[in-house]
Amino acid sequence: MLDFHISQPATDTHSDIYDVIIIGSGPAGMTAAIYTGRSLLKTLILEKIGSGGQAALTELIENYPGFPHGINGYELSQRMEEHAKNFGTSFEYADVQKVYQDTDGIFHVATESREFLSKTVIVATGASPKKLGIPGEDKFIGRGISFCATCDASFYKGKVVAVIGGGDSAVEEGMYLTKFATKVYLIHRRDQLRATKIVQQRAFQTPGMEFIWNTIVEEVRGNNTLEALKLKNVRTGETSWLEVNGMFLYIGLSPNTSFLEGVTRDEQGYILTDEMMRTNIPGLFAAGDCRKTPLRQVVTAASDGAIAAYAVEKYLEER
Ligand code: NAP
Repeated sequence: MLDFHISQPATDTHSDIYDVIIIGSGPAGMTAAIYTGRSLLKTLILEKIGSGGQAALTELIENYPGFPHGINGYELSQRMEEHAKNFGTSFEYADVQKVYQDTDGIFHVATESREFLSKTVIVATGASPKKLGIPGEDKFIGRGISFCATCDASFYKGKVVAVIGGGDSAVEEGMYLTKFATKVYLIHRRDQLRATKIVQQRAFQTPGMEFIWNTIVEEVRGNNTLEALKLKNVRTGETSWLEVNGMFLYIGLSPNTSFLEGVTRDEQGYILTDEMMRTNIPGLFAAGDCRKTPLRQVVTAASDGAIAAYAVEKYLEER
């Protein structure tokens, strides 16, 4: 525990100590809460904004077992929240700034306004969409640039939009946008998509979708709202301007782990765990998209959450 911040025991009596605090209420956090709740562990979920994480922003989740016709991500998240509450989980909405351990081994989870105490912590903070980092981008976020088709598609009825990226998110959300926009350009930096094959097949047959290959966006322009993208073909070096009303960015995610001190992470910030979701700090576990894992899906996040809850139970029993 060399790097991990350790302070003196808190001056209060530790009267309100949770068995487990789960930071984040995406599928990983809520599954963990369902399991710890069923094990009668006193459980608190701390969440920054609303429940569900990235999954709640997904229009249709087609590969979560038990929903043969798919399920809307927000609806699935609401059901998970209700499920966790049914087993006694408490929820607080607050932004966690810091986690540290006192000399009694109790974790202090500090938000802007107060500290919560717990015997164990599960970090399930997920990951957030990446930006391109190009001129004009920050100016047009919320004024033509969006990270969430489910939230913003209806603003683009009868308009022209671009989707950037070649992964599952870009292609699936691009197809969804064709229900609103008259034209959806999918702009990808290579000539092959990264998305799952069946999703690709469907996208190639979707009317209103046009693919622009081997191309990156170098700059965005507009007056009050976004009006045009400067494109560069990475093979020929040619540049051109494309007129659009909106741009949806799906170029991957970066983990929400910067508030953690002393927890071992990889070069991109993803938390390293063993197969029991244990981090290098005894009593502190990680689950879902914020940890280093070969697959980031709702089902793998839920699986991580279940294992982390099991590991918490074992840890508490051993102590
Ligand atoms: P992703 O799989 O990491 O794909 C990101 C895409 O953005 C890639 O095609 C990448 O290009 C491109 N990209 C990255 N940086 C870029 C840049 N600076 N400029 C231009 N393009 C850039 O991310 P994701 O689609 O958000 O998916 C994240 C995870 O969630 C994945 O594991 C995915 O499978 C999963 N997911 C699953 C589902 C589902 O199963 N239904 C739905 C959504 C997401 P390259 O291909 O050249 O690297």
